Amino acid sequence: MSNIAQKVVLITGASSGIGEATARLLAAKGARVVLGARRTDRLEKLAAELRAAGGTVEYRTLDVTSLEDTQTFADFALKTFGRIDVMINNAGVMPLSPLAELKVAEWNQMIDVNIRGVLHGIAAVLPHFKERKAGHVINVSSIGGFQVWPTCAVYCGTKFAVRAISEGLRLETKEIRVTIVSPGVVESELAHTISDPATRDMIEDFRKVALTPDAIARGVAYAIEQPADVDVNELVIRPTAGG
Ligand code: NDP
Repeated sequence: MSNIAQKVVLITGASSGIGEATARLLAAKGARVVLGARRTDRLEKLAAELRAAGGTVEYRTLDVTSLEDTQTFADFALKTFGRIDVMINNAGVMPLSPLAELKVAEWNQMIDVNIRGVLHGIAAVLPHFKERKAGHVINVSSIGGFQVWPTCAVYCGTKFAVRAISEGLRLETKEIRVTIVSPGVVESELAHTISDPATRDMIEDFRKVALTPDAIARGVAYAIEQPADVDVNELVIRPTAGG
């Protein structure tokens, strides 16, 4: 039996892209997955498909910018399955633009989803993990957590923050595994929220060489399936031919 089977795995941002691919792979490997995102219709459809294939799947509408909502999501999983083994803080948004465009509402949205959302995910499971002296937090950062490009200042700032928060969590909680997953370019809906036309064109060009989301899902599965005394701290996964 794989070290993934029967684990209770919560995935934020499971309605598309990397989160959806991760749900598919982990459910196929026998994990009990709990899907969260705002687009419940997508979650419902995905859950039905995975259940038809024999998976154990629950879903719940989730907005990670709300601590209350995120706690309710975790409590729902705990009530349904009796424990939580893995929390994957994957939800993210990327409305890029040059700082001089002053798209302050979009800066705040990135901070709210990409940083506060991760913190809310940690807060929702940490007491349970501390009590059990076990658990695994997987936070999705980015190659933008290492490097900054023009138009990406705030987005990269959020992803640097995810790496810093994850490292702090790892240092403070020795009984809990903490993994940072930092993808390069991956096919998904992530760039759809870019409202600045020039930035959209530039990013579309940059995103021509991309991995499919299942490449990141395989990285996540690798981290989860290690024995409990092995903590895969960080995975950086780029397309071979990409930047
Ligand atoms: P997608 O846009 O396909 O997926 C993003 C997911 O986040 C969606 O399921 C969306 O669901 C969810 N989401 C957004 N806002 C919220 C919210 N407030 N509450 C709950 N869920 C939310 O993009 P990806 O799959 O590519 O992105 C997943 C992660 O990977 C992100 O953190 C992203 O930054 C990171 N990443 C992606 C890269 C790429 O090239 N694709 C590269 C590096 C990192 P819904 O709208 O239904 O709420």
